[in-house]
Amino acid sequence: MERNKNKDKISLVVPCYNEEESLPYYYNAINTLAKEWKSIDIEMIFVDDGSKDKTLNIIKDLAEKDKRVKYVSFSRNFGKEAAMYAGFEHATGNYITTMDADLQDPPELLKEMYKILTEEDYDSVGVRRVTRKGEPVIRSFFARMFYKIINKMSSTEMVDGARDYRLMKRKMVDAILSLKEYNRYSKGLFSFVGFKTKWLEYENVERVAGETKWSFWKLFKYAIEGIVAFTTTPLVISSFIGILLCFVSFIFIILIIIRTLVFGDPVSGWPSLACIIIFIGGLELFCIGIIGEYLSKTYLETKKRPIYIMRETNINKK
Ligand code: UDP
Ligand code: MG
Repeated sequence: MERNKNKDKISLVVPCYNEEESLPYYYNAINTLAKEWKSIDIEMIFVDDGSKDKTLNIIKDLAEKDKRVKYVSFSRNFGKEAAMYAGFEHATGNYITTMDADLQDPPELLKEMYKILTEEDYDSVGVRRVTRKGEPVIRSFFARMFYKIINKMSSTEMVDGARDYRLMKRKMVDAILSLKEYNRYSKGLFSFVGFKTKWLEYENVERVAGETKWSFWKLFKYAIEGIVAFTTTPLVISSFIGILLCFVSFIFIILIIIRTLVFGDPVSGWPSLACIIIFIGGLELFCIGIIGEYLSKTYLETKKRPIYIMRETNINKK
């Protein structure tokens, strides 16, 4: 666990959820990289996020053969965010990054990232995909929309196409670890802590094996999480709609009074009335729903539940 004082050490945090197929490829790729990159120590921290397949066994086998392999295994699936947090917590390197286990984050980029961090005045180097090749069109469309909307609403900047793959200096990771919220939206957290980030661009790479763990529904919920965690603008919008409707209805009342005084009061127009009531009712429920989202997140945060629960590890905590 001790770090060689003269050598920089890079910790690779790898969240793994049912990755038995891609893990061997990943390990080989890193092994090859490490062999030709002697000036650097590398440690791999595999975080088994409650996998249901043989992921943990594979990791344990690797750890047996290779002292650079560390692992943390969760008691159940806590999500990638929790896995990243656990990995950062256990990382001992002075440079730290998180990587997908499916080789979608090209290991070759590490050298370039490291070079930038040592030679230029940056604290982190991130990568962003400039293409979304290989992704379903609908998914890309919604992803783009999401970034447009959240960047309008939130003062924390979210970079479209940014991956979680970014090499960071220790101090930035410590800052991220100091944010102990339960509902974690990393893209926002990375940006929230600040520091100087340089972006490298690359073309999307498809996973080597296995399947994506993100269904459309999961991504949708994740997007809501991001919005609720980083902006309260939806609350302002709902108040605004409320005020606007009060104003409109006030004008209508005046118009109707005038009409009744001038033309008498023939009973008609109930269908339009019904429509208006349904419309307003729907709007009210929508706004209550928005408030509910925030309230539920507040509720969950106040419980102060742990971000993850560990079942086993080969790391002795300092
Ligand atoms: N992952 C995880 N827990 C989850 C879902 C995903 O640790 O609940 C890991 C997964 O094993 C992978 C990374 O997070 O290493 C990214 O997932 P995936 O490749 O499925 O997402 P995509 O790249 O398709 O967005
Ligand atoms: Mg992936």
